[in-house]
Amino acid sequence: VAGRRPLIAGNWKMNIDHLHAIALVQKVAWTLKDAGHDFDDVEVAVFPPFTDLRSVQSLVAADHLHIRYGAQDLSTHDEGAYTGEISGAFLARLDCDYVIVGHSERRAYHHEDDAVVAAKAQAALRHGLVPVICVGETAEDLEQQGPAAVPVAQLAAVLDGIADRLGDEAAEIVVAYEPVWAIGSGHAATPGQAQQVIGRLRETIAERLAGPLGADRADRLADATRILYGGSVAVGNVAGFLAEPDIDGALVGGASLDARSFADIARFR
Ligand code: PEP
Repeated sequence: VAGRRPLIAGNWKMNIDHLHAIALVQKVAWTLKDAGHDFDDVEVAVFPPFTDLRSVQSLVAADHLHIRYGAQDLSTHDEGAYTGEISGAFLARLDCDYVIVGHSERRAYHHEDDAVVAAKAQAALRHGLVPVICVGETAEDLEQQGPAAVPVAQLAAVLDGIADRLGDEAAEIVVAYEPVWAIGSGHAATPGQAQQVIGRLRETIAERLAGPLGADRADRLADATRILYGGSVAVGNVAGFLAEPDIDGALVGGASLDARSFADIARFR
């Protein structure tokens, strides 16, 4: 973790409508508050469906909750004739801090390639949102190329696409390593496996950005960037991941839909 503030992020996927979103966010917030959770120590964020964001925004503002939130996707475009798309500008106006880009489900079901993911990360940064850049190998990739090759290549491609924006000292990104074989399977990677890949991802940030940004800025960004593990994270395994030197948090799918489980994950210490 090395000075980086841990981030526990809940990806709700296409679950929980706006009515239930209020109840879930309230329950997470109250459970954490009752447990004396220090949000400055471990940051907590949720990623509801688009249609829930306005409700979440109102609740967070009215109750002064310390829960942060973001969207699960955004358009590469800022506005215009793009039916069904959501602009990063709209997300920024809803006070989103984050937006997920390149989740494996979008890559698989919506054919998003590295160029699209890079354009989405660009769009996020253009609107002052922190992109949570998801990378990860399938079981087939793992068998054919080992664990790190595909996630490293995916991250390198996105970094190439956003390097000009990362020259800005205020620019921030989050990376999530999510082996596709571990997502929703109940079979998480081991902390050692995740650390091995995440360590390589951190090196990739320094190496890939040294050219465009200079070695100093690239090293600083590699050091400051939070890299999360995702894939069947649960109350029983989260602490093992966070004990690794390069793992700075978790992106949680299934277990983020239950307030008690998600709050317990956030209380991993
Ligand atoms: C995810 O899809 O981002 C994820 C981590 O899911 P799960 O925790 O359910 O494996």
